[in-house]
Amino acid sequence: MDGKRLEYKGEEALKELEKSTVKVDEVQEDILKEILKRNGQTEYLKQFMKGSTDVSTFKRLVPVITYSSICPYIQRIANGEDSSLLSAHPITEMLRSSGTSAGEPKLMPSIAEDLDRRTFVYNLIMPIMNQYIPGLDKGKAMYLYFAKGERSTPSGLPIRPVLTSYYKSKHFKCRSHDPFNDFTSPDQTILCTDSRQSMYCQLLAGLLHRNHVLRLGAVFASAFLRAINFLERNWVHLCNDIRSGQLDPSITDPGCRSAMMELLTSPDPVLADKIEAICSSKSWKGILCQLWPRAKYIEAVVTGSMAQYIPTLEFYSAGKLPLLCTMYASSECYLGVNLKPLCDPADVAYTILPNLGYFEFIPLGNNGSLVEEEEEEEVTRSKMVDLAHVRLGGYYEIVVTTFAGLYRYRIGDVLQVIGYHNKAPQFRFVCRRNVVLSIDTDKTSEEDLHKSVTMAKKLLEPYEALLVEYTSCTDTSTIPGHYVLYWEIVSHRSTMNELTRLETHVLEECCMAVEESLDYVYRRCRTFDRSVGPLEIRVVEPGTFELLMDLCISQGGSINQYKTPRCIKCNSTLDLLNSRVCGSFFSPRDPIWIP
Ligand code: AMP
Repeated sequence: MDGKRLEYKGEEALKELEKSTVKVDEVQEDILKEILKRNGQTEYLKQFMKGSTDVSTFKRLVPVITYSSICPYIQRIANGEDSSLLSAHPITEMLRSSGTSAGEPKLMPSIAEDLDRRTFVYNLIMPIMNQYIPGLDKGKAMYLYFAKGERSTPSGLPIRPVLTSYYKSKHFKCRSHDPFNDFTSPDQTILCTDSRQSMYCQLLAGLLHRNHVLRLGAVFASAFLRAINFLERNWVHLCNDIRSGQLDPSITDPGCRSAMMELLTSPDPVLADKIEAICSSKSWKGILCQLWPRAKYIEAVVTGSMAQYIPTLEFYSAGKLPLLCTMYASSECYLGVNLKPLCDPADVAYTILPNLGYFEFIPLGNNGSLVEEEEEEEVTRSKMVDLAHVRLGGYYEIVVTTFAGLYRYRIGDVLQVIGYHNKAPQFRFVCRRNVVLSIDTDKTSEEDLHKSVTMAKKLLEPYEALLVEYTSCTDTSTIPGHYVLYWEIVSHRSTMNELTRLETHVLEECCMAVEESLDYVYRRCRTFDRSVGPLEIRVVEPGTFELLMDLCISQGGSINQYKTPRCIKCNSTLDLLNSRVCGSFFSPRDPIWIP
């Protein structure tokens, strides 16, 4: 896509979307040709393509990869070697994704023009929304966005999450001239990296503007719920600030202070009383509609693992505010938008935008599994399907090739084709490949979980106790949500009841040991972001896992193929497990996390 088209806004951006979705094949082929023309001489591509920039050579010879294959190149660039290992354009920053590899966050290369590409996607959202809900330019958006701290590579490139990069860009600052992007949060409060101060100020600003707020939101549902929880704990302070016209002294960040003092111009006891009356109510059911009476919807990702938060969001809005998922994006590449944002969350379909990168798809079985248990790195190239040729109903894993230096890279997302917009397929987000537990940006695979449990169960050995079976779930009835492990333990020394009574500290240490061996992002969410609560082990009575097997088989599972499910999502199965719990233990402290 040429630079001009990346700048399209409003109606023009919608027209560009129409145009590119009518001729998906052509647009995709042009994108790939452009990437190969530009990056064909990079060290990475040259080793496979021997200097050719031909599309068919690319498809025949360039392997489909995961992070471990590209990581050495990224590391070399991070350590000061030239960007041309991967990209003809200079790599300007490394985006820290929430995925991890060998316990460390993955770094994704990004070039300057990527910001234009991402902004093009953001610029599409309001014209799409405007088709369904007019008048959004007549009020404000209370979107709770948070920047994170950044580091730099030894060569001086910033390492930061993609959204932090966007919030710091001039593209984001420019939005303030657009009446469709009038946010309650001053930029300084979004950019403040102390998440408590940032949250406090953003909620205060949202309350001060409560009568002008037309929409509420955050990027992910988990973050929005954390904000409500923060409000539950802090509304008295917030009301005091509004009543007195003075900002709480705990807000020390100079940017936050100066921005908020501009809003807190004079005491407003009437507003403070009103908010106090609402927040003092015994039940917070429907609180959002009372605090922000003109709000028309909540915008946040509630697809994929975020779907677990839908009931809680519906509670706080008394089911009166639609939940909108507007876009699908990743650090590797922004991917698509939802053209029917008012649809039910279960029906959300993301239209992949054919001009953002080159997209291919690995066909999967009907349950989203790889067809033949193919090894990570050995997906047969000939099986790959182009964006224009995916099959309606089919399950696929998405593979991206970007201008910034990712070639046939597996993001790890499983999607299902559920419709078309013009010729562009629309996808339901099914899941992350291999992720069983996720509360916020943490993504724990069955393998990660197994490794951590294997470490932790060693702590039982001195007590002649043995972990015989385990499974897990996420519990989002608490805010923040937390991981729950169900453990069946046999003890040769004492009965289980005695063990749980006597050895509370042992099981608490087991909780800790599991957390300590989960990956970097999990530990960051627990310790720094506070978006995941302490892990819980629920010890279940002996024989519980046999009952679990009986239940699975009675529901149609095969005895021969039965494997203990390592994560349970089904309520009746959870009811069974919960009815047999004889002790519950939580991590007594935070796991170690070093920024
Ligand atoms: P990150 O690499 O940290 O930027 O996270 C990107 C990942 O978040 C994607 O690959 C998806 O797994 C997930 N994600 C992003 N947008 C959505 C969405 N709309 N629905 C479900 N999952 C999403």
